[in-house]
Amino acid sequence: MSIDSDCVFCKILAGQIPCAEVYSDEHALAFLDIGPLADGHLLLIPRRHHRHLSDVPPEELAAVTRLIPPLGRALRRATQAAGFNLLCNEGAAAGQEVPHVHFHLIPRTAGDGLGYRWNAGKYPPGRMDEMLAAYRTAMS
Ligand code: AMP
Repeated sequence: MSIDSDCVFCKILAGQIPCAEVYSDEHALAFLDIGPLADGHLLLIPRRHHRHLSDVPPEELAAVTRLIPPLGRALRRATQAAGFNLLCNEGAAAGQEVPHVHFHLIPRTAGDGLGYRWNAGKYPPGRMDEMLAAYRTAMS
């Protein structure tokens, strides 16, 4: 099992520090976020230490993400939220503070005041084609 002795989530997985466990199996752990954005804010993590979502092998990611629907249903039942945001921050620039892949499930209710600055822009002429070419190269 890949662990990082400096990682707070690896310490939780190793039982060195406590967590409010909601679900656990051989691949993943779900627990309450200690600094909730809303009542019942959940974290879902793989047992193996990976810093970034982009580093996780597909089978391992599948074993973790298959838990999102049942956790989402449990979240709705337990919190009476009308929905939730699923969020994964990859990298410090995106707000990642704990360097162990994790998914946030953030309960939402109408008018709760949570949200993003969703400053949608517009591509200048030609830029969309440049981006498309860059992605196609990167994916090939
Ligand atoms: P991120 O900014 O995406 O890296 O989010 C890390 C999250 O981990 C934050 O929402 C923290 O509140 C949460 N967190 C950090 N340490 C703990 C802990 N010991 N138990 C539960 N949640 C934690």
